[in-house]
Amino acid sequence: MRGGTMPDGRTLPVRPGPAISFEFFPPKSEAMEERLWDSISRLAPLDPLYVSVTYGAGGSTRDRTHRTVRRIVEETALKPAAHLTCVDARCEEVDEVIRDYWAAGVRHIVALRGDPPSGVGDRYEPFDGGYANAAELAAGIRAVGDFEVSVGCYPEKHPESASFDHDIDLLKAKIDNGATRAITQFFFDADVYFRYLDRVRKAGIDIPIVPGIMMQSNFAGLVRMAGLCGASIPARLFDLFDGLESDPGTRELLTANVVADLCHDLCDQGVDQLHFYTLNRAELALATCRLLGVRPVEMAA
Ligand code: FAD
Repeated sequence: MRGGTMPDGRTLPVRPGPAISFEFFPPKSEAMEERLWDSISRLAPLDPLYVSVTYGAGGSTRDRTHRTVRRIVEETALKPAAHLTCVDARCEEVDEVIRDYWAAGVRHIVALRGDPPSGVGDRYEPFDGGYANAAELAAGIRAVGDFEVSVGCYPEKHPESASFDHDIDLLKAKIDNGATRAITQFFFDADVYFRYLDRVRKAGIDIPIVPGIMMQSNFAGLVRMAGLCGASIPARLFDLFDGLESDPGTRELLTANVVADLCHDLCDQGVDQLHFYTLNRAELALATCRLLGVRPVEMAA
């Protein structure tokens, strides 16, 4: 739904459909690098608000995340958002990463606590001398520069959280410390999102709560991922994907339908911003955006 004037004076038409953003992960090999950049160049014409790049568990991708974000700044007109976590690093080390981002021209960070280095599901222990959680990290980022700060939030409650109220208190703390957007963990029922939105709004939180849309067509992988992060998968999806373990083509088509239905449900009820977990692949995101009326800006007039 964006329009406006480009730096070169061209006027962009107002585009129908929701505002969108895409998440990528830093590639591990040359082949993955090629796939990522192919996806970025195919998705860029859809004029995303920003594209985010994840930070591997325990800071394991620190350099790769930085390289990928830097290349986005240097070689594209896209606005990158760099994910950053508190895991296994002292505040000074994290602050150095933040300052490097500022120097590279990055102005948006997704501030996360991260998961225990021993693996998701284990008890999280803050690193000695490090930021204890995403709220503290948000404050640290804002202390370094005038960054836009996005954070994570959990429509089905964070698995470690004692209660929804506690979770929402922590979201409030992140906002008090400078966060201006929350991106949700993935979910598959629009009702789950709207129930959460209702709780959050009743708690007085008014920043955008942007649905995070998972584009994973490997159903077994999705079930594993969901189990670890406390996201539920409806029974109808188990039924839908049953017996398709060695049929990736059909799984891909079904995933496109499932994701499109979810996005339509959300947008029909007023959602105007979506964040796509692309897994570095363009096709599902492109197809979903088309179905939602989001077209390359050149074709939007
Ligand atoms: P926080 O909001 O800091 O806290 C999460 C939970 O921890 C709280 O709900 C609470 O239960 C508990 N907690 C925190 N502080 C306290 C406290 N003071 N007292 C008691 N309990 C407390 N992980 C990565 O490693 N890299 C990524 O790039 C990445 N990207 C993500 C992007 C999105 C949009 C989302 C939703 C998640 C992402 N994650 C990523 C996963 C994230 O790191 C995990 O979900 C992690 O377990 C929690 O991170 P958080 O920032 O939500 O934590």
